[in-house]
Amino acid sequence: MEINIPDTNKPRVVVIGAGFAGLILAKKLSSADFQIVLIDRHNYHTFQPLLYQVATGGLEPGSIAHPLRKFIKRRPQIILRMAEVTQIETAEKVIQTNIGSLKYDLLILATGSKTNFFGQQQLPQFAMRMKTVPQALDLRSMILQHFEEALLTTDMKLRDALTTFVVVGGGPTGVETAGALGELKKHVLPNDYPELDIRRMQIHLIEAGPRLLAGMSDKASSKTIDFLKELDVNIWLNSPVAEYDGHTVQFAGGKQLSAATLIWSAGVIGATPAGIDASHIGRGGRLLVNEFNEVQGLPGFYAVGDVALMTTEAYPNGHPMVAPVAIQQASLLAQNLKRQLAGKPLKPFKYFNKGSMATIGRNRAVVDIGKVRFQGFFAWFVWMFVHLMSIVGFRNKMVVFVDWFWNYLSYDRALRLIIRPFKR
Ligand SMILES: Cc1cc2nc3c(=O)[nH]c(=O)nc-3n(C[C@H](O)[C@H](O)[C@H](O)COP(=O)(O)OP(=O)(O)OC[C@H]3O[C@@H](n4cnc5c(N)ncnc54)[C@H](O)[C@@H]3O)c2cc1C
Repeated sequence: MEINIPDTNKPRVVVIGAGFAGLILAKKLSSADFQIVLIDRHNYHTFQPLLYQVATGGLEPGSIAHPLRKFIKRRPQIILRMAEVTQIETAEKVIQTNIGSLKYDLLILATGSKTNFFGQQQLPQFAMRMKTVPQALDLRSMILQHFEEALLTTDMKLRDALTTFVVVGGGPTGVETAGALGELKKHVLPNDYPELDIRRMQIHLIEAGPRLLAGMSDKASSKTIDFLKELDVNIWLNSPVAEYDGHTVQFAGGKQLSAATLIWSAGVIGATPAGIDASHIGRGGRLLVNEFNEVQGLPGFYAVGDVALMTTEAYPNGHPMVAPVAIQQASLLAQNLKRQLAGKPLKPFKYFNKGSMATIGRNRAVVDIGKVRFQGFFAWFVWMFVHLMSIVGFRNKMVVFVDWFWNYLSYDRALRLIIRPFKR
């Protein structure tokens, strides 16, 4: 069955994924002479960088999600369908989805990435992920449920395991999550659970490599360790996790740790749908693209953002999987498709790296902008400003601002709610 889309004489551009890249593409192409069909499995765009704040009760889930119907309201040229793309048939120029098939003239894959468990067997069953709003809400429920369960036992070993949180992956997401848990331990949980000795709560941040925030400067990395220690986070470097069975973290070196919660933020791979020949897929499951984001050997098929692997002299392993790359690639591709339509020459992609940052709880952040590096309160302010400006939707910006302001003044996390209890 074909998806019901109006017939047109215009070339049909199908954009799969309404993340950072997909939204920009749909927006910028909507003024061109194309029929744009935007497809996403959700009916909202997710601002992933703040998922960890939803998971730790700091932000409302709705404040980091933007309804796609609202996004297209003033752009009638975009046809939106909520669907899961299951297969791409490149020879026939057809996509298969859970609601039917669709032919395309041009295809833009902007499906982002998915969690990478590096082939581990048991771990994916028991580790908590943080790629979507429902996953962040599951984690929020699980954290709080474990404290409620801890009240029900006098077995100190069990109580300790229930209140031990292991975060795997020392990149920005792992660091920020561990910091947010540290804030909960310091300011919120002692008031909520006076019957528990919250000093016994343990937060472990585990990194396989020799340093935290490997993509940032040495100064940012060492300052992050100081900030995390102030929040009572235990840091394990050079400590790859081998397995986790829901109770015990097994390290490659033989050590073990009892913990009822393990949050996995140790890596992602390209979310490439089935059907694409392996010869087009490179390192990290990402699609091999040329400097115009066209999939090598497949004319009219483009990939942008996390799912695209463009190797250049400066980035021999592809660009970092971050929002600015997705936004810049999508903007240029939209321009190039319009230039192509007008018979003008195309411009190759060149990444403009505006810098990196991470926040570690209240008043603390690290920022690297080129050779300029700063840490502490001003960095935290810059981090907040950049994130606030990047959130999609005016209402969302306001809600996030109010939540942050409230959290700051009250030292509280008002959203520590178990709305939908988590069950494995
Ligand atoms: C927890 C977390 C924190 C992060 N923090 C930062 C940060 O601080 N700074 C930063 O720059 N980057 C950060 N990132 C990375 C950043 O979010 C990504 O680089 C960025 O989202 C990539 O944009 P994208 O458009 O390629 O994909 P995404 O934004 O992931 O969008 C992909 C879209 O495709 C849809 N989709 C996927 N598969 C299918 C399918 N088969 N069918 C239909 N729809 C599909 C998804 O629903 C999604 O809407 C973070 C990521 C995570 C997970």
